[in-house]
Order: sequence, then C-alpha cells, then structure tokens
Amino acid sequence: MGIHGNSTCVMNYDEATGYLLGAENKGLAAMFVMMNEARLGVGLQGLSIAEVAYQNAVNYARERIQGRSLSGVKAPDKKADPIIVHPDIRRALLTIKSFTEAGRAFTLWTALKSDIAHRSGDATEKQTADDLLGLATPILKGVLTDKGFDHAVMAQQVFGGHGYIEEHGMSQYVRDARIAMIYEGANGIQALDLVGRKLGANGGRAVMALFKEIGDFCEENRADENLSFFTKSLKKGLNDLQASTMWFMQNAMAKPDNAGAGSTDYMHMFGLVVLGYMWAKMAKAANESLAAGTGDADYFKNKLLTGRFFMEKIMPETALRKIRIEAGADSVMEMAAEAF
Ligand SMILES: Cc1cc2nc3c(=O)[nH]c(=O)nc-3n(C[C@H](O)[C@H](O)[C@H](O)COP(=O)(O)OP(=O)(O)OC[C@H]3O[C@@H](n4cnc5c(N)ncnc54)[C@H](O)[C@@H]3O)c2cc1C
Repeated sequence: MGIHGNSTCVMNYDEATGYLLGAENKGLAAMFVMMNEARLGVGLQGLSIAEVAYQNAVNYARERIQGRSLSGVKAPDKKADPIIVHPDIRRALLTIKSFTEAGRAFTLWTALKSDIAHRSGDATEKQTADDLLGLATPILKGVLTDKGFDHAVMAQQVFGGHGYIEEHGMSQYVRDARIAMIYEGANGIQALDLVGRKLGANGGRAVMALFKEIGDFCEENRADENLSFFTKSLKKGLNDLQASTMWFMQNAMAKPDNAGAGSTDYMHMFGLVVLGYMWAKMAKAANESLAAGTGDADYFKNKLLTGRFFMEKIMPETALRKIRIEAGADSVMEMAAEAF
C-alpha cells in the first residue's frame, strides 16, 4: 500500500536449523528491548508524516483560491479568497498543528526519560524514569500513529480533489502513514498493553507517579491567571482519566472484556491528557518568555493560540471517551459472531 522506498518481503524459515542465542526462555524479553525502541521510532514516524502533510496543506491553503470569506472579501484583487480564510480549513490545520507541536514535546519528554533511565546515577530517579518510559511507550506509538494517519487524511482533504490524485504527493503520505498503525504491534495491541500490563505494573507505580506529576503541576500553577485556562482544562481531562482508571479497577477484574472494549478509548484519552500536559508546560514557558521580553514575541503568541485551540477544541474529547469506557462491554460482546 505504501512505504515503497522500504524493501519489504516475507521470509519463511521452513526446514531451517535454529541455534539458541543466550539463555533459554529469555528470547522474548530480549526481543522487547529492540521492540520497545522500535515502537518509539514508529510513533515518531506517525508524527512526522502528519507534520510534513501539514506543511504541504498550509502552503496549498495559502495559494488555492476558492469561495469568499464569510466575514467579507479578503482578496479583492483576486476572483476568490485563498481557502485559508475559511474557518473549516483553519479547524483542520489547527487540529494538526496543535497535535504535532504537543506530540513533538511528548516525544522529547519520553526521550529524556529514556536518557535518565539509562544514564542516571540516582537509583530512584532511574527507576521513576524507567517506569514512565514503559508507560509512555504504547501511548506514544498508538496515539501518534493513529492520529498521524487521521491528520495525513485531514491535510489531504485541504487539497480537495488535488489531494486524491498523485500530483501533489498527499496520497503518498496517507498510504505511508497507514503502516505505522500496524507494524511493531498493531495499535489495538498497544491499547491492551497499556490497560492490561502497564497500568497494573508494580502496583500501579508508574501511572500514579504520572497522575501526581500532572496534578502537582496544575496545583502549583493554580494561582497563575495567565495559565489558568490551560491548567483548568488539563485538570478536567486528568479527572476524566483518573475516573476511567478507577472504573477499570472496579469493573475489569471480574469482567476482562470491559477492559478490552474500552482499551482504545483509554489509550487515546491518556494521549489527550499527556498532550494537554505538554501544552500547559509549553504555555507556561511561552508566558514566561513574553513577560521577560526574551525571544520572538510573535512566535510565543502563536504558540499560546495553538495551545488554546487544543485545550478548547480537542481536550474535551476526554469526557466522550470516559462515557464510552464506562458503557462497558455488553453492547460490544452480546452479538453472536455469525450475526456480523
Ligand atoms: C510493511 C510491513 C513490514 C513489516 N516488517 C516486519 C519486520 O521487519 N519484522 C517483523 O517481524 N514483522 C514485520 N511486519 C509484521 C508486523 O509487525 C505485523 O503485521 C503486526 O505486528 C501485526 O501482526 P499481525 O499481522 O499478525 O496481525 P494480527 O495479530 O493477526 O492482528 C489482526 C488484528 O487483530 C487485532 N488483535 C490481535 N490480537 C488481538 C487481541 N488479543 N485482542 C484484541 N485485538 C487483537 C490486532 O489489533 C489487529 O487489528 C511487517 C508488516 C508489514 C505490513
């Protein structure tokens, strides 16, 4: 379907002789050393395709003229206005932009945890970083690649018919983005890894540490009026996530299908909260730079606008996902397989 620059082939090892490398029954654990790193790389692949698709869509939206602005003509010298004046085009562009900027921050945040987990001399710091790295891995892979594909499609849509034909290259981004949702463990499996393994690992140590870190951030910055828009929205998302986590604890032990039916919603809800956390941290840094008069003020103002869009238009999705999780597995599981 895509990644035609990649040499992919099926290799069968029928009748081949196998040799044991390392200790018996330790192979899967060894494979996961490679696999976890690969999952982070594939998450970055999803994010990067969304970014390049976005950059193309922005250029096109500035050039393509079609229709007139709802609030009055913007390009009187032209037969029509550039489509970037239309709110629905802006909605699409800002959806992608607000996601990729936070996704990039989340990727760097996770990479930093990896560095600390590997290099810190402090055992407690090392362990906390390793816990958070393990927790972040399925979220980074699953969310950044699911959304990477959605956003490649969204950027393609900005091109209208010119996105569907090959000329502008947008269909290639869509085809290439699709594999990242599948290989290194399909995203349904990432969601199960998060809910089935990562949440409960070491008595929930990682998830509790992250909830505390985000909750503390909201609390420490509660009095900051310039940040309250971000911290309030983030706190709401965190409350939804904590409530759904509790719901799993109460309803998935006795009935595991409840966890399976809600796992993809939960992974995406977790992604929203983590990306919202990245936005709140970036907004704090932008406010500080603006107050100090350092750096490019327009850059920081646009950063805050992009973050506001995320908090206003994307973050509230946590409430919907919570409702879907708490509806449980009954309507999912009742139908007989023959009835599909
Ligand atoms: C282009 C390409 C390159 C690849 N490169 C490599 C490579 O270099 N090396 C390599 O080893 N592999 C490679 N793969 C294989 C790839 O990793 C697998 O295809 C992928 O992990 C999914 O496994 P599967 O195809 O067996 O799907 P399946 O496991 O059959 O899954 C099918 C569907 O069922 C879902 N599913 C499966 N089990 C469950 C469950 N228990 N609960 C809920 N849902 C479930 C999955 O989420 C998925 O949607 C490549 C694949 C492709 C397409």
